[in-house]
Amino acid sequence: KWNDILEQMKIENDISEVAFTTWVKYFRPYKVEGNMITISIEKENLVLDPSWFSKKYRMPLIITIAEVLETEFDVQFIIPDLSEKNRISEDAEKTDSESLINAHLNPRYTFETFVVGKNNDIAHATALAVAEDPGIYGNPLFIYGGAGLGKTHLLHSIAHYVLGKHPDYRIIYVTSEEFTNELVHSIQHKQIENFKNKYRNIDMLLIDDIQFIVNKESTQEEFFHTFTTLYESKKQIVISSDKPPKDINGLEDRLITRFKAGLTVDVQPPNYETRMAILKKRAELDNIMVDDESLNYIATNIKSSIRELEGALKQIYNFSRLRKKTINFDLTKEALENIISPEEKRPVTCELIIDTVAEHYNISPDDIKSTKRNKEIAYPRQICMYLCRKMTADSLQAVGNSLGKKDHTTIIHGEKKISDDLKHDENLKNTIDILIKKINPPT
Ligand code: ADP
Ligand code: MG
Repeated sequence: KWNDILEQMKIENDISEVAFTTWVKYFRPYKVEGNMITISIEKENLVLDPSWFSKKYRMPLIITIAEVLETEFDVQFIIPDLSEKNRISEDAEKTDSESLINAHLNPRYTFETFVVGKNNDIAHATALAVAEDPGIYGNPLFIYGGAGLGKTHLLHSIAHYVLGKHPDYRIIYVTSEEFTNELVHSIQHKQIENFKNKYRNIDMLLIDDIQFIVNKESTQEEFFHTFTTLYESKKQIVISSDKPPKDINGLEDRLITRFKAGLTVDVQPPNYETRMAILKKRAELDNIMVDDESLNYIATNIKSSIRELEGALKQIYNFSRLRKKTINFDLTKEALENIISPEEKRPVTCELIIDTVAEHYNISPDDIKSTKRNKEIAYPRQICMYLCRKMTADSLQAVGNSLGKKDHTTIIHGEKKISDDLKHDENLKNTIDILIKKINPPT
């Protein structure tokens, strides 16, 4: 019966055979709750995200379902994590590496959702060309630009695109921080061979935020060998950084030379038109109803980072839900009242430290300020204590207040725990190092 619905939808909507065999035939009813049917798209390595399917197939499906079942249902799409499911299947070994990859890729970061403007058109075109024919154009492809301008988005897009065309490719996406931590771990546990095998036997390596390996000699050494091995077997390497190769202080000359020999492109802050286009796309993808005047207000006032643009939109959205009001210009102005102009460098405060640490660990600032005691939250909280003490002049009591009314002995304990761990924990050292740079970027 389900297949009949799909067939009928195809005929009524003139869906091409190609679209049908590529996408539609993978639609499976996953669950029905009230009048909502959730459809899972059971295809591996999808290049597109659910919102794309929703835009194209939601209405046709609603109509056909209503015709066939004589009941009105709404539909939504999800993309199941097939790698999870396959992990238990026989071909565990292959899917294991696949799930590893998938786990690292944000399904939202695809070429489809990337808005092209004058600020990034060359980076976009080059990334797409490299994704079409890995290893043919410059190697490495080196993408640089300021924070929040789409570098990570482009790296993920390349990986999604290549996996869409070659599901069997072994692709690794890592940040240079993860690369460093893994290396340190493998040295400590005498598993350096595993590390080498992992990184040298792949078809493509995408390494994000390479600037964080500056002054780390053994990481640079190992990275150089990984790089050379891949390079010599014509495997594509894609690198991102906040600066062009020649400006990265503390990076070995031989790496700079290698990087410069490839293809270097940059992403710049978007102009007004592109900022508007990005906001419109984001609002559409997230189903946020927002008037043009509000969008204009955001696009006029937030200029330097796309992440901040998106953050402003989200803030308005949350504010409107809280107030139970629809978004309009007045609400927008109120919601963004306290947004600090991203042009200025934010002063280092406990708030900034908490926000940065929370983002780094993918938890919320409220978690940090809470009294939750699970390690995933308690440890970042202690890192905040340590950093607040180290980077601000706030008293123990002030730090305690910023962290959700903790008393001063808790702060002393947290600060000490981290200083003690720092004496032997290389990974922590690396992380603290990176956090400090994120909180107070060197200029
Ligand atoms: P970077 O890695 O350069 O710091 P990201 O790639 O993480 O920046 O981008 C920050 C946010 O902005 C992400 O949510 C990303 O999806 C979004 N973004 C960046 N560039 C674009 C673009 N050109 N079109 C749409 N969204 C974008
Ligand atoms: Mg990034």
